[in-house]
This record gives sequence, structure tokens and C-alpha cells, in this order.
Amino acid sequence: MFLGKPTNIYGAYRRLRVIRIFDPWRSSLCTCRPKYSLQPYTGCSHFCLYCYATAYIGQGPSRPKRDLLRNVRHDIGFINKELVIEMSSSSDPYPPLESWTLLTRKVLEILKEKNIRVLITTKSDLVTRDADLLAEMNSAVMITITTLDENLANILEPGAPPPSRRVDAISYLREKGVPVGVRIDPIIPRLNDNPRDIERLVKTIADAGAIHIVTSTYKARPDNFKRMINAFPSLKNYWERIYLREGIKIHGYHYLPLELRRRLLKPVIDTARKLGLTYATCREGLVSKEFFNAPSCDGIHLIKESRDHRVP
Ligand code: SF4
Repeated sequence: MFLGKPTNIYGAYRRLRVIRIFDPWRSSLCTCRPKYSLQPYTGCSHFCLYCYATAYIGQGPSRPKRDLLRNVRHDIGFINKELVIEMSSSSDPYPPLESWTLLTRKVLEILKEKNIRVLITTKSDLVTRDADLLAEMNSAVMITITTLDENLANILEPGAPPPSRRVDAISYLREKGVPVGVRIDPIIPRLNDNPRDIERLVKTIADAGAIHIVTSTYKARPDNFKRMINAFPSLKNYWERIYLREGIKIHGYHYLPLELRRRLLKPVIDTARKLGLTYATCREGLVSKEFFNAPSCDGIHLIKESRDHRVP
């Protein structure tokens, strides 16, 4: 479970300017180990309809953070270097403008110098540009893929590269020796929950070289629910029933009823288990072996493999 308020394991965290103690929006269901988060950008140009971050930071395209590199260098003097830095939990570190700003890459170069472990979480195949650098670091990459259906992905994640490019990115990173996991997150009722499609998705990413999967169901917040209903008006009544009337509210999020969540996640978990991948759920409260069989949910456990896990 998330450890809650900062303790001294986070070093001199009050001095930090841009590296933050990872905050799962105060969710008591978060199973992440202590870690830092670092967002090179504010906002996110992927504009996912279901994005949770927009409820906290608003919606807008990715903008570089001011004085980022200077502040990262400053913060490194005050963090606990045993902890992993995740880039990024509420703003993708590889938006289109990263291809010319190189901000994320420059941050990685700084972190590499200090031998700091890094977990990249992204929806972009632009991460492959930095494969050589990541392979030389203690790093792992988690790529989010919610569906192989390019049309659906284009509606749900209009600013992100298509799923096929993300699958290719898995293969490329593995060839370069970077450990890769996948977030199948979120599973949304009647959009990407077909068990056969899910099985195909898990097989595809396993064939590409992913070794860990974390998954969760979509949780409704007023702003993301509005965007979802605008995009899929025929599902309005159904979603309102299962989320607002039959579901439960946890920390400001409308969750589906527990039994339905178990049913939606099972095809991901069962296929991952069959294929020998480690698997976990994210903020579902499903932590028994049936749904959670990995040293970490977020993929941190992949990092230690980065130096000796070259693909033969
Ligand atoms: S990539 Fe993540 S942060 Fe960016 S819009 Fe999508 S869900 Fe939100």
C-alpha cells in the first residue's frame, strides 16, 4: 500500500523543486512502493479521453517546465538515490514536442551520470529514440496499450501514436536490452473489454517481448466521464447505471461494482498467467495471487534487470 505522508526515506524532500514524492492522488488502494515522480512537461498532448490527471491539473497540451534541467540538477542533491524516479505519472514524457526539445533525453543523461534508477511510463514510440541511453542505465519502460483497434485508439487517445507503433516499440526496446512491461489500462466496459480482443492484445505484447502487465478498469471522474459520454453517447445510459448507480465511490472516483471489475480484468490476468508474464492490478484492491503476481505493480521490479537482461 502507498505509504502516505513523507518520511525520511525521501531525503530532504522539502528542498525539492521539480522532483516530487510520487502521489497517487491520495488513493489508499495504490500498491506502489515509495518512489519519486518527475514530469518534464506540464499538460499532455495525448489528450486521452479517460485521463485522470486533468481533474487535478486541467487539460492542455504539453509545455516544457521552466528551468527544468537546472532544477533537476539541484534536486538530485537532495533525493534518496536508492529510490526510483518515475517519468511520468501525470504527463507523458514523450509528447510530440520532445522530438525537438530533447528535454526528457537531457534529464535521462543527468540521471544516468548519477546512476539513478528510472521507470519510464509512456504511450509514445518516441521512447525508442533513447533506447541506447536507457539500455546503459538502470531503467525499465512501461508502455500503455489499451487496444489494438487503431480506430478506437484514435478516439480514446487522439494525440498518441497508434497501438501498432507502440507494439513495435516494445520489440525495439527489448532488442536493445531494455526491460519492458505494458499497462493495459484502463479497461472500459463495452469499448475494449472483449475477452478475445484482450487475449490477442496480451499475446501480441508478449510476443513483442513485454514481461510484465499491469491493468485496471476505468474509473469515472466528472471531467473524464463527460468526455467519454460526448465521444460515445450511445453508452451514456449504460455507463451511468453501472458507474453512478451500481458502482461505488472511492476517493472521488466512481468505481464499477467489484464483481464486474473482477470479470473485466480476468481475461488480461488469465492470459498473462498462461504466457508466464508477471501481472498486477492498479488501484483495484485486488491484491490476492489471483490478480497480483509480481514483485511490483508499476514495473519497478523490471529495472534491476536492465544491465543483465539483454535479449540473446
Ligand atoms: S498520456 Fe497519460 S497524462 Fe497524457 S493525456 Fe493520456 S492518460 Fe493523461
